[in-house]
Amino acid sequence: MIEGFRGRLVAPGDGGYDGLRRVWNEAVTARPLLIARCADARDVALAVRHARDRGLPLTVRSGGHNFAGRALVEGGVVIDVRDLTGVDVDPARRVARIGAGLRWGQVDPALQAHGLATAGGSVSKVGVPGFTLGTGLGWLGRSHGLAGDNLLGATVVTAEGETLDVGPDSHPDLYWALRGGGGGLGVLTELRMRLFPLVRPAAGTLVHPLAGAASVISQVIEATADAPASLSWAAVLTCAPPDPFFPAEVRGRPVLLLPVFSTAGEDEHVARLRRIGRPLLDTVGPTDLCAFHTSTDEAAPDGMRWDVRSEWLTGLDGAAVEHSVSAIEEAGSPLSELLFRPLGGAIAAPDAPATPFSHRAAGHLVEVIANWADGDGAAERAWMERAWAGLRRLSAGGPDVNHLGLTEGPDRIRTAYAPQVLERLLAVRRAYDPDGAFRSVLSDVH
Ligand SMILES: Cc1cc2nc3c(=O)[nH]c(=O)nc-3n(C[C@H](O)[C@H](O)[C@H](O)COP(=O)(O)OP(=O)(O)OC[C@H]3O[C@@H](n4cnc5c(N)ncnc54)[C@H](O)[C@@H]3O)c2cc1C
Repeated sequence: MIEGFRGRLVAPGDGGYDGLRRVWNEAVTARPLLIARCADARDVALAVRHARDRGLPLTVRSGGHNFAGRALVEGGVVIDVRDLTGVDVDPARRVARIGAGLRWGQVDPALQAHGLATAGGSVSKVGVPGFTLGTGLGWLGRSHGLAGDNLLGATVVTAEGETLDVGPDSHPDLYWALRGGGGGLGVLTELRMRLFPLVRPAAGTLVHPLAGAASVISQVIEATADAPASLSWAAVLTCAPPDPFFPAEVRGRPVLLLPVFSTAGEDEHVARLRRIGRPLLDTVGPTDLCAFHTSTDEAAPDGMRWDVRSEWLTGLDGAAVEHSVSAIEEAGSPLSELLFRPLGGAIAAPDAPATPFSHRAAGHLVEVIANWADGDGAAERAWMERAWAGLRRLSAGGPDVNHLGLTEGPDRIRTAYAPQVLERLLAVRRAYDPDGAFRSVLSDVH
């Protein structure tokens, strides 16, 4: 169907179509006209030209973990890069060349083998390109910045089917836009990421009962206000898994999970968090970075339906925390959650790079995640909207581009970026994709 194409081309009705179309979020129903599973970068260029010649909309699929299913396009062509899988580590220059088909769980061990790491994802199943093109906030974010901050360059196939080597000195405008602009400017076939020496972190989770959780969260916020960049944490209001590892009284019931991550080991800042409240369980200790990154994979299993609302927050006050604790008691699924993460550290440092990420001064990110098994999830999504609405008075401006939900419209998407950043991103899009072939957050606001 495409002359010279070496990979696999699959259309509706062909064997294997449903498996290749499937993304992590089962609520996404878009059915592309063609999935081009590319064998190499040359196939990517051929598939892009094929779509362009026929005026068909294009998307790119990598890890398939976008909440809104942006890897798929109804009636269009999906460039599936999952077979672009090389990892090449240059320990002397501290750079890794990473194939765009990889997930973080495939990359981290390859870096760790050299005693190195990068600012990758906190859940190992997430794809490298989608994560990096969006905000890319992971456990090493406070010490080393966002994924986009550490993107040194990329190989990009443009809407014209041209292959560009993109970096600070080559197509600098496109390079700027790739570092958090949300994608839709071309197909990345390879990313070049900055590496740092791997330290063995102290990490794990403090599990608190829901009674008293509001006070624990407020104390954690206070205790970490001036914490060093080596310390990171999250507050997750959700149900404890029905796992014998958890105390019987909280299994399957709403709890506060407090993951703690310290690149300085079990120092006084970790000790301070341990002294807050009375944790039912404390798994914090020296661990392996790869192991910690896979430890929460099961909280977001495949084969379920999901939606999300997110917001960058100026901070969190007592009323917001109380509202969140009450909200989780009303959730209908044990996998639904409210998750708070602090920013600061390298993300907010005065010398942080100038990228499209527009919320460096925010205090926290909140994600309200709705889960359901079948149907349209109306009740759980209404719960999500209520929980999120109760926090929006503390908005620092808008949502996280990597946590946009199923039905968020142009007005909302626009606020993921500062107005002047969005204008610049759209100018880059006009330069590199003048006919708007790629579907993305940028095409949605245009
Ligand atoms: C369980 C879970 C945990 C998460 N944790 C985090 C987190 O800790 N921090 C964070 O910042 N985000 C997180 N996210 C959000 C995630 O980073 C984004 O949803 C991201 O878009 C997923 O990337 P992907 O490659 O897996 O997805 P895909 O669905 O394959 O792609 C997502 C977007 O990127 C584009 N894209 C993919 N590959 C390419 C490419 N090669 N070239 C150009 N465009 C491409 C797609 O077209 C699409 O628009 C999480 C998501 C889930 C489901």
